[in-house]
Amino acid sequence: MAAWARLAAALGGLLLPRGCAACGCPPSETEPAFCPSCREELVWLQEPCCPRCGRPGGDELCPGCRRAEPAFDQARSLLAYAGPAGQAVRRFKYRGSLAAGAELAGLIARRTPAEYLAGAELLLPVPLHPWRLLRRGFNQACVLFRPLARRHGRELAAGLLRRRRHTRPQVGLDAAARRENVAGAFDLARGTAARVRGRQVLLVDDVFTTGATAAECARVLKEAGAAWVGVFTLVRARGHPGGGLRPEAGPDMIAGDQRQ
Ligand SMILES: [Zn+2]
Ligand SMILES: [Zn+2]
Repeated sequence: MAAWARLAAALGGLLLPRGCAACGCPPSETEPAFCPSCREELVWLQEPCCPRCGRPGGDELCPGCRRAEPAFDQARSLLAYAGPAGQAVRRFKYRGSLAAGAELAGLIARRTPAEYLAGAELLLPVPLHPWRLLRRGFNQACVLFRPLARRHGRELAAGLLRRRRHTRPQVGLDAAARRENVAGAFDLARGTAARVRGRQVLLVDDVFTTGATAAECARVLKEAGAAWVGVFTLVRARGHPGGGLRPEAGPDMIAGDQRQ
């Protein structure tokens, strides 16, 4: 979609009645980002979970984290990818529904537990390659997390972390292939290391799958001297930094999902 069409869509979105981020039906009263039937299907990810990677199940270090320590200090997500949450993300990201993006951003701002941001001094959106950014017209992480950053008085530092090379879409790759795919793909913008050194930073993105992208970003930030690197995403698919689980590919996966 051309930039002008996106702008028109965004402006139109302001005038349209609000709808469910997943299906467009009238929103529910208790969670305006989703309609009552989609809201019923949402799976909220809560404690107990692996203290390190956030894998649901128990409050002990999960087998994957025991086997191979992730490069990030902590990862948390709000919702499971399966069902309407993943559907809403795809509607936003691949079909360019800025209305769905705005609803999801509102949900993140309302529903994120304050403790997830407690130590974070800086929010860093996982960057897209400039070509992909040009094609999509927006970085989904910036759109999704800007209201949250504003609400908690944190800086959303877009442009600090950069994707320096184009990577294959991660969809369909196993954990090892994902790690290899993103190795060396990120760096810090020239002269910005001082903004990271000694600080606690929170990487934000739409989806956490095996954590390969987050781990690679965390590695770059730690190398630059970051004191703590957390990861926070809207949704989490099944998968683990040390494991080989494939991302969920539900029956509602669309062809567009092949693009990252
Ligand atoms: Zn719905
Ligand atoms: Zn874990």
